[in-house]
Amino acid sequence: MGTKFINLKPATTNRLYYVTLAFNGTATMTRFILTLIVCTSAFLLTLDKTRATEPAPNVLTQEQQAQLTPQNILDELMAGNSRFVSNNLTERNHSKQVREAYAGQFPKAVILSCLDSRIPVEDVFDRGVGDIFVARVAGNFINEDILGSMEFACHVAGAKLIIVLGHTHCGAVQAAIDNVQLGNITPMLAKIRPALKTAQPFSGNKTSANPEYVAHICCENIRMAVRMIRKESEILKALENKGSVEIVGAYYDLNSGTVSIVEEK
Ligand SMILES: [Zn+2]
Repeated sequence: MGTKFINLKPATTNRLYYVTLAFNGTATMTRFILTLIVCTSAFLLTLDKTRATEPAPNVLTQEQQAQLTPQNILDELMAGNSRFVSNNLTERNHSKQVREAYAGQFPKAVILSCLDSRIPVEDVFDRGVGDIFVARVAGNFINEDILGSMEFACHVAGAKLIIVLGHTHCGAVQAAIDNVQLGNITPMLAKIRPALKTAQPFSGNKTSANPEYVAHICCENIRMAVRMIRKESEILKALENKGSVEIVGAYYDLNSGTVSIVEEK
């Protein structure tokens, strides 16, 4: 008995200890889980509140397009570029936007970009489905097909801003400087090479190995495209003259993602 008692007491004490410990552990765990639920709920409520005040953007409607001015649109695109640069792109439901946009399109701008794969044009301006027309050709030059596309975008579909978007370290411009001769690239580069003649005087090494000269020609190539739009398209020139459309040149920095306006000279 004595032995039994002696054996029993510690065993009972141990059981009590473990039961107490288990109970305390469960209570602690319960408190922890409750706290976690409360904190998570508060966070989700905050998130819902944020989302409720900032709804996901819808596809642009004809009425919304009609209310915009070219300057509004340019300001909006430049603000979008700031968000792109700071890695703060708007969250969009692309599947929903695709479904909304199937019946028609009322984009606000048309952007002529270089072919370069490092320029994700919609993202660069933080735009979604149905927001902008994008035309692309290596060296972002103007030809009849691009002009026809721009006339459709602005005169038919109601876009109010044209941006010619060149970029730093443009390979097409470098090839034009080097006068590369290769297949259909030769006649393509012939559309860029006039910028070598119309560019402002440049004192320095005029080769593709000089980044400053390449930048100098890239900007002139952008200005040349802007001038050609006005010269070769009566429709776009007339829209610009009456203030319905604005035509601007812009320069994308591959290193930073920043877009800056290229002033005309
Ligand atoms: Zn390029």
